[in-house]
Amino acid sequence: MYIDSHCHLDKLDLTPYDGDLSALLSQAEQCQVSKMLCVSVEMEQFQRMYSLIEPYSQVFASVGVHPLSADKGVVSVEELIAETTRERIVAIGETGLDYYYQQDTIELQQQSFRNHLIASSQSGLPTIVHTRDARQDTLDIIRQSGDPEVGGVLHCFTESWEMARDALDLNYMISISGIVTFRNAEELRNVVKQVPLDRLLIETDAPYLAPVPYRGKKNEPRYVVEVAQCVADIKGVRLEELAEITSENFFRLFSAAA
Ligand SMILES: [Zn+2]
Ligand SMILES: [Zn+2]
Repeated sequence: MYIDSHCHLDKLDLTPYDGDLSALLSQAEQCQVSKMLCVSVEMEQFQRMYSLIEPYSQVFASVGVHPLSADKGVVSVEELIAETTRERIVAIGETGLDYYYQQDTIELQQQSFRNHLIASSQSGLPTIVHTRDARQDTLDIIRQSGDPEVGGVLHCFTESWEMARDALDLNYMISISGIVTFRNAEELRNVVKQVPLDRLLIETDAPYLAPVPYRGKKNEPRYVVEVAQCVADIKGVRLEELAEITSENFFRLFSAAA
């Protein structure tokens, strides 16, 4: 069994499935992608997203606001906590810092990030962190406001080994997306080599970032198998073994997922 630890099912174009999410999910199931975590990016869209996934027990969800949406109003700790009582919520996020796309909202991104980390600590649900071109601030804020007992994940990781190592020390896991299959991702493959197997997750971030050989097409959870194959090759383990270990890691981190 494979688990897609990070996707956005509410953003997928379901036209090839006649608008039917259950058809997409059964296609994924046929590829042994049996479970997935659907990640929230905005509070305004959260209710719709949750209603979409609610009928499917194999789909878990998070609640949170993407750093690039933090300028629409910083979400409060209370607002986040209020949604964590829903049955399928297993994580807080995605939150974090993205200085690559937005420099003028840094203050708001940081406030929002802190609130998510506090909500994680209060709820006991781990944090899903998006980080781009903000290595030092991301680590500093996790150190200041994060709860090492609860931990989290740096998703769609593309940063340095030094950052990965510091995150591992803060009880974070490292999640690898289809970027690892790209020809120019040599540095990332070197990071994967060094991250211990029991701290790795795999994800698609669908509909974004389809792995080779689907690059440029719309991504789907079932393509997480390509990510798994690439990571298995780097780590020198069998595909089945990689699938099993990353699934165990998923349930260890997202312990509310059952
Ligand atoms: Zn992200
Ligand atoms: Zn995402």
